[in-house]
Amino acid sequence: MTAPRQPAGEPVDERGASAPTETWAPVVRVEGLEQRYGSRVAVDDVTFAVEPATVFALLGPNGAGKTTTIETIEGYRAPSGGRVRVLGLDPRRDRGRLAARVGIMLQGGTLYPQATPVELLALFGGFFRDPVPPSTLIEALGLGAVAGTRYRSLSGGERQRLALGLALAGRPELLILDEPSAGMDPAAKAAVRSLIASLRREGRTILLTTHELADVERLADHVAILHHGRIVAQGTVADLTGGSEPAARIRLAEPLEEADLGRLAAALSSPGQRVTVHADRVAGSYRLAGAPMTPVLLRHLAEWCSIHGVGIEEWRVGRGSLEDRYLELTGDVTALGETGDETAREARARAGGGVPS
Ligand code: ATP
Repeated sequence: MTAPRQPAGEPVDERGASAPTETWAPVVRVEGLEQRYGSRVAVDDVTFAVEPATVFALLGPNGAGKTTTIETIEGYRAPSGGRVRVLGLDPRRDRGRLAARVGIMLQGGTLYPQATPVELLALFGGFFRDPVPPSTLIEALGLGAVAGTRYRSLSGGERQRLALGLALAGRPELLILDEPSAGMDPAAKAAVRSLIASLRREGRTILLTTHELADVERLADHVAILHHGRIVAQGTVADLTGGSEPAARIRLAEPLEEADLGRLAAALSSPGQRVTVHADRVAGSYRLAGAPMTPVLLRHLAEWCSIHGVGIEEWRVGRGSLEDRYLELTGDVTALGETGDETAREARARAGGGVPS
């Protein structure tokens, strides 16, 4: 696909008049956004800016307010308070002008059941002056095998890929994706990841919500974490993970008994320094925190494993991942694709509350 036809941002100044020296406004600017459903505040004083040719990821647990925020940016909801600008325009008042410049991935809707992906991509492309040829989108999205299959027979993941293709049909400057790879298999997720990276390289701007934190670490230039409708952290991935204290991560040959977890924590702790051992999602994986990971502490760890005959398969010392930071801030695990075998107590423990007891 080729570069966007127009620059992503618009030269403006704060008064809306021509700027004396050319400055580039953010592609999306959200200022003090509030959204209420009756008396319920779903989005509370949310402010962020999406810069041109960047990937901006909006994260948060279920019900945090991501979709509400995204739908307001798309112009589907009027703000209860605050202000939203997209490409310098009001997403509701200027919806017609924005339609050709903003690509939106439709969620869960049903398209013409008899139409095929090729026909639908051609139909959508017909709304735009310079559409991407359907064959290009079919190839980019790996839909070749089902290009001529009727929509009603496509799998959920194939429909999701097609929805992404439809959002791209008009070569949008801004692409808004609400959980783009939900329900996709790993290969399709990887395809979406590389597609987003290549769109960004072309100079397009991407605003997305997702629960795929590993993707966010690889792709996003800027991240905002929503929790109960408020932004609890935002910045680059490095900014966010820099706040996590360095921790050691170990993977043991066998998962430890719960009593042994406590014993290990006690063996590593010293007066004034309480080391905590957090069980990770993967059985046998643990995170140690609470004290600087000095060579002495690591030696104690190795000795404890040696004395107790515990094999170490992997160990790593460093700052936490985005997932660690996310969990610290939200205490959320269900959003990461857990199936419910982890209790809220364990989640709290992993989010910084110590060893599950
Ligand atoms: P998820 O990850 O589950 O998609 P989300 O972060 O996108 O969640 P929203 O869909 O924006 O969250 O919902 C935010 C809150 O607003 C939730 O508590 C939800 O129940 C509530 N809400 C959303 N839409 C409506 C509505 N139409 N009427 C009343 N409450 C709503």
